[in-house]
Amino acid sequence: MSARETAGDRPRPGGLAPAAVALAATLAVVGWLLLGAPGNLYVGYAGGPIAMAAAVVACWQVGSTAPLPRAVRSFWRQLRYAGVFLLISAVISLLRANNNTGLSPYVGLPMLAGVVILMVAMLRLPFGERTALGWLRALLDGATVAVASTLIFWYVVLDLAPPGTSLVARIAAAVVGVSGVLLLVVIGKAAAAPSAAVHPASLRVLAVAPLVDMAGTILLIAGEQRGRLTLSVLALPLVALSMAVSAHLQRREPGAPAQPVIGAAQRSIFNLLPFIAVTATAALVVSVSAQEMSTRQRTVIIGAVLIAGFVVARQLLSLHENNIALRGIRRQQAELERLALSDNLTGLLNRTGFGMALAERIDERLPATALLIDIDDFKMINDTLGPAAGDQLLYHLGQRLREHCRPGEPAARLGGDEYAVLLPTDDPVVAEAATARLLAGLGEPFRIGDQQLLLHASAGIAVAADGESADEVQRNADIAMYAAKESGKASWVRFEPRMRQDMTLHARLAGELHDAIVQGQLRLVYQPVFDLETGALHGAEALVRWRHPTRGFVSPGDFIPVAERSGLIVPLGSWVLREACEQLARWRAAFGPGAIEAINVNVAVRQLRDGGFVDEVAAVLSETGLTSRNLIIEVTESSVVDGWQVRETLQALHEMGVRLALDDFGTGQSSLSLLRAFPVDVLKLDKSFVDGIAEGADRGRLAVAAAVAQLAEYLQLKAVAEGIENAEQLERLREMGYRYGQGFFMAKPLPAEECGKLMSAPPVQVGVSSA
Ligand code: C2E
Ligand code: MG
Ligand code: MG
Repeated sequence: MSARETAGDRPRPGGLAPAAVALAATLAVVGWLLLGAPGNLYVGYAGGPIAMAAAVVACWQVGSTAPLPRAVRSFWRQLRYAGVFLLISAVISLLRANNNTGLSPYVGLPMLAGVVILMVAMLRLPFGERTALGWLRALLDGATVAVASTLIFWYVVLDLAPPGTSLVARIAAAVVGVSGVLLLVVIGKAAAAPSAAVHPASLRVLAVAPLVDMAGTILLIAGEQRGRLTLSVLALPLVALSMAVSAHLQRREPGAPAQPVIGAAQRSIFNLLPFIAVTATAALVVSVSAQEMSTRQRTVIIGAVLIAGFVVARQLLSLHENNIALRGIRRQQAELERLALSDNLTGLLNRTGFGMALAERIDERLPATALLIDIDDFKMINDTLGPAAGDQLLYHLGQRLREHCRPGEPAARLGGDEYAVLLPTDDPVVAEAATARLLAGLGEPFRIGDQQLLLHASAGIAVAADGESADEVQRNADIAMYAAKESGKASWVRFEPRMRQDMTLHARLAGELHDAIVQGQLRLVYQPVFDLETGALHGAEALVRWRHPTRGFVSPGDFIPVAERSGLIVPLGSWVLREACEQLARWRAAFGPGAIEAINVNVAVRQLRDGGFVDEVAAVLSETGLTSRNLIIEVTESSVVDGWQVRETLQALHEMGVRLALDDFGTGQSSLSLLRAFPVDVLKLDKSFVDGIAEGADRGRLAVAAAVAQLAEYLQLKAVAEGIENAEQLERLREMGYRYGQGFFMAKPLPAEECGKLMSAPPVQVGVSSA
C-alpha cells in the first residue's frame, strides 16, 4: 500500500461543478451541431462563454487551494487570466455570431493573448534544466518549430484562405496557429521536467487546448463552411473543458509526483518535434520549388534538402543511441537504489530503507509507529551454531517476520539480530496488538539443519508524535527496546518520554563515571565473609564505591549497569581487580597468617568477553606477588551463559587455579545445568532467599536455600549465604548446612583499614555462642 492510498488528510475532491458545467455546455454544442444547427447561430456560440466562464472558476478554485505548492498555485492563477482572455474572445464570437466569415481580428487577438499567457505560465513551471545550455536548447527547439510551422501556415493554410480574408486576419490566424504548435512544445517540456510540479494528468489534459487551437485555426481560415462552423462553435468549449477537467484533476491529487510526469516514450516524441518540423519544412521547400523554380534551381534545392535530411537522420541516430545508453544508466541506477535500501541477507529493507520509509510517512503526516525487535541471546545461539547457521537463522527470521506482517507493514533488518517493522498506525493499542502478533510469529520454533530452535525476542514500540523526526522515533523505539530487555526479555515496552530522561541521565552518568575513574573518585570497601561455624574471618568481597563530588555517594546498583552498557566496566573492572589484589598483598604483608587467604572480586560479563582478561589476571597476580589461590572471581549466572568466549575465559582462569564463585545463585534460569558445564568452586546463595528464611513464610524460597546447601555439599562446592541481617537467619542457614556467610548482621562493607583490624583481632563470635 502506498502512502497515498491511506485515507487521511487528503483534501476533499472539489471543483467538479465547473467541470460539469463545461462538459454540459460542450455536449449541448455537440448536440446542436448533430441536429444540423437548428435555429439561431447564437445558440451554438453560447456554449463558448458558458464553458469558458466555468473554466475560469475552476482555475480560480485551484489557484486559491491551500495545500498546493506556491509555484503550482501561481500556475493556475495565470491559467485563470488566460481563461479570462479566451472568455472575451468567446463573448465576441457570440456577439458576431451572424457575420462569422473566417477569423476576425476581434476574436483572434484576445485569443492570442490567452494563448501567450498560457505559454508564459508553462514556461514559468520548474524546468529540469535552468542552465544557460538548457535554455539555449529549448530556444533552438522552439525556434525550429516556430519557423517551420510559420512557413507551413503561410504557404499552405493561408493559401487556402478565401480570397476576401484581410491581412490582419491572416496574420492573426498564423500567429494563433503557430502559438498552438509552440504551446505544445512548451507543455511537452514542462511535462518532461524531472521535478514536474503540476499533476501529470492535468498537463496531459491541457495538451488538448493547443491541438484544438491548431485545428481550429486551420479550419477557420481554410475549412469548408460546415467544418468552419463546427470548430468556431466547438473550439472554445473544448479548450474550456480541458482547462476545467485539468483543474479538477489537480485539485483531486494535490501531491506533486516525484517522477517526471511523462514516460520515456512520450518524452522522445517531444524531442522529435524539431525534427518533424525540419522534415515538414523540407517537404514544403521541395513542393514550392517544384511549382515556382527552374530545373537548375530545383536541383540545387533538392540537393540542399537531401543534405539537410542526411544531417537530420544522423542526428536521429545519435538521439536513438543516447536514449539506449540513458535507459541502461537508468536501469542501473534503479538497481543501485534498490540495493542501497535493502538488506542483502534477508531482502528486507535495511536501516537506510527503513529510515526513509518512516520519514516518508512522517513527512506526509500519516500515522506511523516504529517497532524495533531484537532477538534475545542471539549471540549465544550464534556462538553455539556457528556463523553459517547463524546467518541461516537470521534469514529465516526475516522471512518469518515478513510472513506475519500485514500489507502496509514493511519489515526491515537493521543489522545483526535487530529487525524493525513500520506500523501504519498511531493508536498504541493497535500497535501493541500488532507487536504481540509479530512476536508470537517469531516465537514458533525454527528448523535449522536438523535442529529445532525456539527463540524469544524483545521489542520497543514508538508511536511517531507530532513534530518528531524519523530519527527521533527510531531512537525512541530503541530506548523502549532496551527497557524491554532490562525488564527481563521476551517482552515489549512502549516508549514513554520519561525513558528518554532516564537514558539522558545514564549518558550523563557514563560521562561522569569516565572522569571518576581517571580522577580517582572510586574507592573499594571490603565486606568480610565469615566461617559460620567458628565465627572466624574467612575472606572478603571487594565492592566498589563512588563518592561523587556533587551527587555524593552513588550506589553501585546505579552505576554498575551504566558502566556495563557503556563499556566503562572494562577499565573500571581493571582498576578494581588491581586495587583489590594490592590491598590483599598489603594485608598479607602486615598480618601474615592472620590475613585472609583470598579476596573476592566481582567481574562483569563484558570483562570476560574481552580477549585479554586471562592475561590481565595473570599479570596483576604476578605484579602484586599473589598466587591464583588468592583470588576468587564472582560472576553472575546470567553472564556465564554468554557464549563460547566467556566459557573459554572461565575455563582458562580455572586451569590457572583462580576460583570461580557463582554470585546471586538461584535467581538465574539454568542454575543446575550451569554447575555441570562450568568449573565452579563457590555458590553464593542470593540475598532474596536469605530474606524470607526466618519467618518461614515462603516455603519455596526455603526449599531453594536448603537445596543449594545440599547441592554444594554433594558437588563439593563451598556454599556462601549472602545478606544475612539477623541472628535467626544465621541460625537457620547454619542448620541447613551453610558453612560461610556475609551480611550486615556480622559486618557491613568496610574500608580497608577497618577490615584489616579484623585480621589481627580474635574471631568475632557470630552467634556461635547460641549454638
Ligand atoms: P553483590 O556482588 O551480590 O554484592 C553484595 C551486595 O549486597 C553489596 O551491595 C553488599 O553491600 C550488599 N549486602 C551485603 N550484605 C547485606 C545485607 O545484610 N543486607 C543488605 N541489604 N545488603 C547487603 P553493593 O556493594 O551495593 O553492590 C551491589 C552489586 O554491585 C554487587 O552485588 C555487585 O553485583 C555489584 N558490584 C559491586 N562492586 C562491583 C565491582 O567492583 N565490579 C562489578 N562488576 N560489580 C560490582
Ligand atoms: Mg558479589
Ligand atoms: Mg550477590
